[in-house]
Amino acid sequence: MNADRITEKLNILADAAKYDVSCASSGSKRKNENKGLGNASNGICHSYTEDGRCVSLLKILLTNHCIFDCAYCVSRKSNDIQRAAFTVQEVVDLTINFYRRNYIEGLFLSSGIFKDADFTMERLVRIAKKLRTEHNFNGYIHLKSIPGASDELMNEAGLYADRLSVNLEMPTEAGLKLLAPDKNQADMIKPMGYLKNAIIQRTEEKKLFKKAPIFAPAGQSTQVIIGATPENDSEVLRSANYFYKNFNLKRVYYSGYVPVLADSRLPALNTSVPMVRENRLYQADWLMRFYGFKVNEIVNDAQPHLDLDIDPKLSWAIRNMQAFPVNINKADLQMILRVPGIGLLSAQKIVSARKFGKLNWDQLKKMGVALNRAKYFVICNSTEFERRDLTGNNIKQFILATSQSKFLKNTQVQLNLF
Ligand code: SF4
Repeated sequence: MNADRITEKLNILADAAKYDVSCASSGSKRKNENKGLGNASNGICHSYTEDGRCVSLLKILLTNHCIFDCAYCVSRKSNDIQRAAFTVQEVVDLTINFYRRNYIEGLFLSSGIFKDADFTMERLVRIAKKLRTEHNFNGYIHLKSIPGASDELMNEAGLYADRLSVNLEMPTEAGLKLLAPDKNQADMIKPMGYLKNAIIQRTEEKKLFKKAPIFAPAGQSTQVIIGATPENDSEVLRSANYFYKNFNLKRVYYSGYVPVLADSRLPALNTSVPMVRENRLYQADWLMRFYGFKVNEIVNDAQPHLDLDIDPKLSWAIRNMQAFPVNINKADLQMILRVPGIGLLSAQKIVSARKFGKLNWDQLKKMGVALNRAKYFVICNSTEFERRDLTGNNIKQFILATSQSKFLKNTQVQLNLF
């Protein structure tokens, strides 16, 4: 293997992969100091497993050649950039080499489309298969599925990958048509539907037969790009909600659009990446998945955008002051979860601890409750906080005045953009 050429390919194909956030990554700067192959400072990202463990992944594209011309993508065929492609064996060797050096614990592999969907997907599957069957590789593998790939290849992919994902790219079909006219949403939905059914079926088989093969044990996820098209937060979250419900997705990743290409269909090149909006969408997504909120309660026709200056739970609370104060010693878990400043863990601790006695401010604080927020919305076994004459808007101003959020600094800029 020509180490210089491989390093060159790694630089190109790791750089092209950085725009995909669906492995929740952040960069790493580990250097090759003993003349080994490659330089791990490019292409290593961190991802969190279901149990919260942080793992390092080699994050690369198989190729940045592509037959499609999606306006938002650096790899689009009309973009004049340096192109490269790994062979199947090169990706296998790189992964094993980095794994043996303890640089990585797994592989995140995506790709441009070489010739057609199956031609490309077959290579991705072959890499995962070689790693598992020839090298006994037990690290984490996340494969990006190519839209339009056949059921047979999706099935094989599920046998070797831990997680599979198909990027929706745009929150709505209209947005996709505008920016990626070569693609159609049906080609993305088809493999998602196949994976959903296969995961359910294999899980059932595994219950009956211990030796039944595992199938994509970490499930499937998707990514949508935010801010490249004019969809509002209501449209984005409704779309996410639909895919969670109908395709059993583990995660929807919201990726703020990074302007890298000049195109009249896209925001101007100097437009800021919508980081605050991206963060608020993740918070809203969390409320839908873990806090029992319905999408309509967070965004609706009257409120199509998330507040950028406060988080969506606080925003819901100040729009629904009639639901408060919540009596922490009596309310059910679902209502406690709706109190700003009380997280999942704290809510569970409250419900367990109150069996042994009524809870006061000090005890709530020890359980991790953020009293600077929660005090406006709860009563407990202490003197009631003086909240009688406060309106929702007063509360918002008090909380904002004491908030330390790193995102607040940028809020004003973001407000101008959306
Ligand atoms: S198909 Fe994928 S790699 Fe190709 S241009 Fe579109 S987004 Fe980029």
